[in-house]
Amino acid sequence: MERQFEAGLAFAQKKDQQDHMNKIRERFCIQPETIYMDGNSLGMASKDAREALMKVVDLWETEGINIWNIEDNKYFLYQDFLGARLAELINARPDEVTVMTNTTINIHQGISTFYHPTKERYKILVDDINFPTDRYAVDSQVKLKGYEPAEAVKVVASRDGVIDEERVIEAMTDDVALVLLPAVLYRSAQLLDMKRLTEAAHKRNIIIGFDLCHSIGAVDHDFADIQPDFAVWCNYKYLSASPGAIAGFYINQKHFAMEPGLAGWQGNRKDTQFQLKQKHEHAQNAGGWQTGTQPLFSMAPLEGVLKIFEEVGMANIRKKSLDITAYFMYLIDTKLAQYGYSVGNPREDERRGGHICLVHEEAYRICSALKDSGVVPDFREPNVIRLAPIALYTSYEEVYQVVEILEFIAINKKYEKYSSERSMVV
Ligand SMILES: *Cc1c(COP(=O)(O)O)cnc(C)c1O
Repeated sequence: MERQFEAGLAFAQKKDQQDHMNKIRERFCIQPETIYMDGNSLGMASKDAREALMKVVDLWETEGINIWNIEDNKYFLYQDFLGARLAELINARPDEVTVMTNTTINIHQGISTFYHPTKERYKILVDDINFPTDRYAVDSQVKLKGYEPAEAVKVVASRDGVIDEERVIEAMTDDVALVLLPAVLYRSAQLLDMKRLTEAAHKRNIIIGFDLCHSIGAVDHDFADIQPDFAVWCNYKYLSASPGAIAGFYINQKHFAMEPGLAGWQGNRKDTQFQLKQKHEHAQNAGGWQTGTQPLFSMAPLEGVLKIFEEVGMANIRKKSLDITAYFMYLIDTKLAQYGYSVGNPREDERRGGHICLVHEEAYRICSALKDSGVVPDFREPNVIRLAPIALYTSYEEVYQVVEILEFIAINKKYEKYSSERSMVV
C-alpha cells in the first residue's frame, strides 16, 4: 500500500490529531517521561485491566466459595467466557477458543492431542528461528513417544532470518505427522502465509498448529478462512493482559470429538463435572482441553483489556499498526540509515507483524543508551533492537521522538560509555 509521510514533527502531530485511537490511549497507564516501545514483550497496563482485576479480588473477599455461583456461574465458566471473546480477534467460533496455563503448556496440550506417531509418520516439522520454548516442547514430546529429537524433529532452515514458505511446504513429506510454526517471528516480525501453509499441510494429511504469541492483538487473523488444526498464544504481549497472564488455546471444531492429550477435571462436560465420576467425559468444545482450575486473578485483567479491543475492533488496530510501523520505517530510511541502522523486518504489509526489527552492530549498547533516554526498547542477540509502536497506545509523535533519540545516540556515539555485558533479562 502506498502511504505518504513527511519527516517533520508537525506531520507526526497532524497524524495524532487525525487518529481515532488517541482517546483510547488515555485508558492505558502511560508513564511520565517514558516512551514505551516494548508492548510486544509485555503489554502496557490499562485502567480497564486494573478495574477488572480489583473487581474479582473484591468478589473473592465478599463471596468466598460462592464466587463460582454468582452472575450465572460467570467465574466458574470464565475460561470459556474469555475464550469466546478472544475468538472474535481471530475470527474463530466462540467455542473453539479457551484460556489456560501458559503458551508452553498449551503447545504440549496441542501436540499431545494430535501427535500419534506411526512407523511411517512420526516426524514433527519446525523451523530453526522460532522462540526456543516451542522447540523445547516439541523435543520433549517426541522423547515422550520414545524418539530422539535428531530422528523425529525435522527442521526447516531459515535463510537470512527469513522462513521461506516454499521450503516449508517441500519439507512436508510423507513421514511428517505435525507442523508447528510461529504466525509472526519474534525477532524479525515476519508474518507467515498461514493459509497457504495450512492448505499444503492438509493436502498431505498433516496436522498444523500455529503459535500466535507475536501476532494476537496486532494481526487480524481470519481463522474461519485459514482453518488450522490448533493454535496457542500468550495474552501478555500485544494483548496487555498482565505479566504471565493466562494463555490462549484454539482447537478447530472438527476435532472436538478427539481425546485431549492432557486431561483434567475442568475439561469434563460441565453438566456432569460435579458428579465426580472416575471416567472422564471431555466437553465437546475448546473447554474440553482444560486441565485444572485456572487462576482467576490472571484471567480478570484479560476481561478488562478485551473491552478496549472490542470497542476499537481488530481491523482498525491492524490498520493503524501497519500505518505507524510504515511511518517508523520511513523515518529510519530517511534519517537513520546513514548511521548504520537498517530495517530488518519484511516491508510488505502482508508479510510483517506489529514491531520494527531495527538492526545495528551496536544494538546492545544502543539499547542501554535508549533506556537512559526514557525509551523502553528490547534487544535480541546479536544485533537487533525491537521497537513496537502499539496501535492502541503509541502516538506518531512518540515514534518521531524515538527516531530523534536514535539519531542523537548515533551522532554523538552515546553508546560508547555503556558495557556490552548482558544482563539477565534483555
Ligand atoms: C512469548 C512467546 C512464548 C511465551 O511462552 P510462555 O509459555 O507463555 O512463557 C512462546 N512462544 C513464542 C513464539 C513467544 O513469542
